[in-house]
Amino acid sequence: MQTQANLSDDRAPSVLGDVDGPRILEVVRRTWGFDGLRPIQEQAIRAGLDRRDSLVVLPTGGGKSLCYQVPALIEGRTDVVVSPLIALMKDQVDGLRECGYPAAALHGGMSPEEQWAVERGLAAGEYRLIFAAPERLVAPRFLQLLGRANVRAFAVDEAHCISQWGHDFRPEYRQLAQLKERFPGASVHAYTATATERVRADIIAQLRLRDPAVLVGTFDRPNLVYRIVPRLDPERQVAEVLKRHDGEAAIIYCISRKDTEQMSAALRGKGFRAAHYHAGMEQDARRATQDAFAEEKIDVVVATVAFGMGIDRSDVRCVIHAAMPKSLEGYQQETGRAGRDGLPAECVMLQSGVDGLRWESLIRKSAEAAIDPEAVATASLELLRGVQRLCGSLRCRHRALSEYFGQEYSAENCAACDVCLGEIDGLPEATVVAKKILSCVFRVGQRFGAEHVADVLLGSTRERIVHYQHDKLSTHGLLKGSERGAVIHWIHQLIDQGILQRSDGDRPVLLLNERSWPVLRGQEEVRLTAPRTRAQKTRLENDAWAGVERGLFEALRALRRQVAQERGVPPFLVFGDATLREMARARPGSLSTLLAVKGVGQRKLAEFGARFLMAIERYCQGNRLSLDAGAPIRPRGRP
Ligand code: ADP
Repeated sequence: MQTQANLSDDRAPSVLGDVDGPRILEVVRRTWGFDGLRPIQEQAIRAGLDRRDSLVVLPTGGGKSLCYQVPALIEGRTDVVVSPLIALMKDQVDGLRECGYPAAALHGGMSPEEQWAVERGLAAGEYRLIFAAPERLVAPRFLQLLGRANVRAFAVDEAHCISQWGHDFRPEYRQLAQLKERFPGASVHAYTATATERVRADIIAQLRLRDPAVLVGTFDRPNLVYRIVPRLDPERQVAEVLKRHDGEAAIIYCISRKDTEQMSAALRGKGFRAAHYHAGMEQDARRATQDAFAEEKIDVVVATVAFGMGIDRSDVRCVIHAAMPKSLEGYQQETGRAGRDGLPAECVMLQSGVDGLRWESLIRKSAEAAIDPEAVATASLELLRGVQRLCGSLRCRHRALSEYFGQEYSAENCAACDVCLGEIDGLPEATVVAKKILSCVFRVGQRFGAEHVADVLLGSTRERIVHYQHDKLSTHGLLKGSERGAVIHWIHQLIDQGILQRSDGDRPVLLLNERSWPVLRGQEEVRLTAPRTRAQKTRLENDAWAGVERGLFEALRALRRQVAQERGVPPFLVFGDATLREMARARPGSLSTLLAVKGVGQRKLAEFGARFLMAIERYCQGNRLSLDAGAPIRPRGRP
């Protein structure tokens, strides 16, 4: 029997009533400084303790890692975590060690000496978790080692990589099908952020999970503010969003490698500390960008979707898609990298109708390599339609995303998306604009694409326009003075609404259809959106700073950077932003009040608690502030 836990509020207090409960909470409190568990975490941890196979589906930032970290620690056993990327393993191991948790990784990037040292530690039972890439799990030497260490539980992270129906198939994950054969008595625990039924079923089948507990968390991320805006001038628009996040971490996703390089150069030109990242770069260069970002030496990474899995920085305050992503699964994962610390963060998508066309051709090309190209292309195009529907609708983004992932959304107004914040203006006189566009399509003989039609409407005298004598048309110049991007966006809105049609093929042309005529005859009204939105900091974002002494927060951030540098780890592993904000709010004056701050565990208290206390005291003295300002206020979000 499967246990389906579909919880709508993962902020509910956890009920850990039985014998294990206090034990789990005590360990979590002492090691990580968290004062509670999210409900799915609790059930996932229990499955881990009982060594019952499980599939845990939680969105990015939902707290999957804790689910496999706790059972091994409590039981004093050695579990194996399968992870797709070296960078991901490294960050996790570093983070665990900072908490005093014994963990190690084995991967090809280590020297033979380093590997031997870990192998010795493994044989001696020193580690609670050992991280490895999937291909290592079928290597005879490693298998022997695991046998000797009596490994009886495996956690498979990013488990959707095993499915070719997902958005991130990795053939090497297929080897994990052998796990159950090689370790018949062991339990296997799969973790993913992918929600589609098909992928979930595939994970269970491929990993040969037996009677697994299927635990599905809430997909909504209340602390994320979603905005989808028409792309008019991407460099200017991206810079405008980044200005709202001065000195904060941001990721910008582009479709192509070239786009990332151009955008990052443009942003550097505007004074932002930005670098690019894509899979075509040398490994060293990629690592350099990643490290600079993790160490807070740069604020902005402009990347293809290749960037992400290996980045754990929890204080990313802004994720911008410079173009529409190709699936909502991908969108959820990429935007999920914002605000992992539970504090508000902004996600902006710059979208244009051409993005869909671009993806369609890329999808068809990449499907050619699949075993069943037609089926894979169809599945990918279906995912693409999902994003297009989100972009084309004027429904609450939180609701639309939740429903896409098969979950209900109860709030009337989320107060955290462009639609609910009332930022999207309808275009005045939209029907008149639509008529102008439709009649221009008619005048050019339904033989030209969106760009050409837009140019005619804008009154361009380009050679191509003159050549076809389109400067003589009555519709020439009817939308003079509008922004070109806006006109193209209106054309795409008409296509999305089914009032205008685009032919198939390499050179699509605009065609009228039966729904165009009632509009042209003035029998039907049309709604279009204005090109600009009025985005500003939301109440959600402002509230998260309530009571926080900003200067103290910055002082603690600087100290965090210094401590991190001394220890050779990224700053976010020292303390997260949520923890620093709580310190800057509560201003603890003693070790015991510092320990009450969420994110301060025993180990960190002992290692650098005193230095943080000293910094707080110094700042408070200099600014005539009292210490121990009161109970920490919990910002909106999860525990
Ligand atoms: P995922 O792997 O699902 O993307 P992570 O395991 O990286 O998510 O966790 C996301 C963030 O949430 C991390 O910063 C982590 O420290 C924090 N977190 C996880 N569980 C809890 C909890 N019970 N209470 C408070 N913070 C938590």
